[in-house]
Amino acid sequence: MIFSACAGGSFGNMGNRALCYKRDVCGEWVNSYQQGNRRTINPDTLIHNLPELSFGQPVVHLDHGVGRYAGLTTLNVGGVKGEYLILLYADEDKLYVPISALHLISYYAGGAEGQAPLHKLGGETWRRTKQKATEQVRDVAAELLDIYAQRTIKTGFSFKQNFAQYQRFCKTFPFETTRDQQQAINAVLSDMCQPLVMDRLVCGDVGFGKTEVAMRAAFLAVENGKQVAVLVPTTLLAQQHFNNFRDRFATWPIRIEMITRFRSHKKQKKALADMGTGKVDIIIGTHKLLQGHLCLKDLGLLIIDEEHRFGVRHKERIKAIRAEVDILTLTATPIPRTLNMAMSGMRDLSIIATPPARRLAVKIFVREYDSLIVRTAILDEVLRGGQTYYLYNDVKNIKKAAKKLEELLPEARIAIAHGQMCERNLEQVMNDFHHQRFNVLVCTTIIETGIDNANVNTIIIERADKFGLAQLHQLRGRVGRSHHQAYAYLLTPNSQAMSDDAQKRLAAIASLEDLGAGLVLAAHDLEMRGVGELLGEDQSGQITNIGFSLYMELLETAVEALKNGCEPSLADLSPNTAEVNLHMPTLLPEDFIPDVNTRLSFYKYITRAKNANDLEEIKIKLIDRFGLLPEPAQNLFKHAELRQYAKEIGIKRIECNEHGGFIEFRDNNCINPTHMIDLLQSSPTVYRLEGPSKLTFILDLSDRKTRLMFTQDLISTFFANRRVA
Ligand code: ADP
Repeated sequence: MIFSACAGGSFGNMGNRALCYKRDVCGEWVNSYQQGNRRTINPDTLIHNLPELSFGQPVVHLDHGVGRYAGLTTLNVGGVKGEYLILLYADEDKLYVPISALHLISYYAGGAEGQAPLHKLGGETWRRTKQKATEQVRDVAAELLDIYAQRTIKTGFSFKQNFAQYQRFCKTFPFETTRDQQQAINAVLSDMCQPLVMDRLVCGDVGFGKTEVAMRAAFLAVENGKQVAVLVPTTLLAQQHFNNFRDRFATWPIRIEMITRFRSHKKQKKALADMGTGKVDIIIGTHKLLQGHLCLKDLGLLIIDEEHRFGVRHKERIKAIRAEVDILTLTATPIPRTLNMAMSGMRDLSIIATPPARRLAVKIFVREYDSLIVRTAILDEVLRGGQTYYLYNDVKNIKKAAKKLEELLPEARIAIAHGQMCERNLEQVMNDFHHQRFNVLVCTTIIETGIDNANVNTIIIERADKFGLAQLHQLRGRVGRSHHQAYAYLLTPNSQAMSDDAQKRLAAIASLEDLGAGLVLAAHDLEMRGVGELLGEDQSGQITNIGFSLYMELLETAVEALKNGCEPSLADLSPNTAEVNLHMPTLLPEDFIPDVNTRLSFYKYITRAKNANDLEEIKIKLIDRFGLLPEPAQNLFKHAELRQYAKEIGIKRIECNEHGGFIEFRDNNCINPTHMIDLLQSSPTVYRLEGPSKLTFILDLSDRKTRLMFTQDLISTFFANRRVA
């Protein structure tokens, strides 16, 4: 049995960045406005607030490496009760981590769970692995900084806003914008009006209204005589955006064109020529837009929908444009790379976390295939005047599948759509479906991205076990796009015929019923799919070795170090919080909060609280939910508060028991020497300095309350008298 040292600290450093959108201390999204428009989100909240730990799940301990979570336990150590997280390591070694050291633990994501390493306690492997990862991360950090540097030295076009015209445009939006949508719009417009090149990522779950953000930006650009290019990953999406943009701009003298394989060669050629002479204001297209011959008279804004769906070559082209033109990227599942950049403050990020009003979460059913379920689901939808997507992702047999469906549902009108159809037919079918000439569309994943048909409120996915998590999420997002209740049926073969991973994926998607699960899901997906294709083999190897959270921490620290002109090193990760032990029970007792996971969550929130206000907020939540705090819980908060003060003034450790104790200072503390001398002189029998960094005190502190008060007083006078840099 090994007890983990309680040293350490929160190593995610946000520096002096503005934090405008964050979760509150208990993980719920809140807004916190700050002056200025540059916004980022707290990486902690994204990474650490991931699903609760379950038994056997890999977790990373900063000092000991990857182990497996094996529950919480209450131990009586030296007569003091405390809760400990049990981590299992190789050779069935156990590590007991006190809940005051939770900040050293992160959730492991980085590959299939079964492939996560299992380190040996006390072995050298972990130190070497961390060292190697640090070196590799340095290169990624340097690359990120390079892109950033290029961007900050390029001055961009400062768009001017004509308020009256803009108001006219806003009035024709048929809905009221949601608060998040409005904030994203404000941020984008404000970026565009600055002389810097914009590189903003708008991240919002499927159906949360990102398109309107793009339209407002496009309006501002065109109003300023600039051209706009909208880059989308699929032909169908291009067609849809084309229709939407045309509708939205119908009363404005703005010309919108489209470049996709749906268009005849002649039309495309004409559109391109007109782009070149500035006759076209907005061009919407697939990667074809990037194919070398794109020649625009005066491009002012590039809007990219779902950037991660573009291939490497196209991304290179986008990168080339990035340093010069304002770019607005829309995404529902942020890729780690994008997330990286946003986190490292290199890219501005707006999050649309709330759905439009009256949106209902899609109801999901994971079921073994049964024709009765299919028939009932479709019939119910038909009866309420709605339509259904029937996803059958095998082009070879799709006709057969449609035929079978026709026999099952003679009352429905059924059509087929897939990517190998000729453009004209595909366009026609999609159009007819949109105009409700059919009830059911039997289709492949061609509908996956962005397709918006408000009347389709049931989706049935055959062989749902064959899809990735992000894909299932996207597909589910194709329904439930208005205020009607929508349903997603994920049909599978029987459980023996499915892989373990598939079963986990389906369980995960069913558990993420909430609207807005996209962000959580991105990380989930990452964990299961592996990240090779996204970050390149080297990085994915590192992530598998050390876990995603720690990788992100390393990357962020490396970026900070390089920014400050230093070489990143492992030492940067050494936590600088204080260890506080007053030898009294500090826990949330089981009879106060019986559920282990809830207790663990609250421990996490307390550990991560940044200041007294955060702690107070958590306390209020606890009291609201569970009643007055029992003494060990009060102690827990008092310890946490002491830790915060101690950290602030450069104290490494506070130990105190019945007979007194000691305080250990860091080298770079801000203790005021005059105050220290006063203290030593005032009670020479109590206080003594042992070396330059240790203050001991001897007195009777057998009563716990007295002990607590004594320590609080001592620390608060150090704090009040501290040297301010
Ligand atoms: P996505 O974020 O996936 O791009 P869209 O922008 O396509 O989502 O929006 C999905 C649907 O929601 C569209 O039909 C759109 O008209 C509608 N919508 C957008 N904003 C609002 C809003 N504020 N209130 C109600 N409906 C909205």
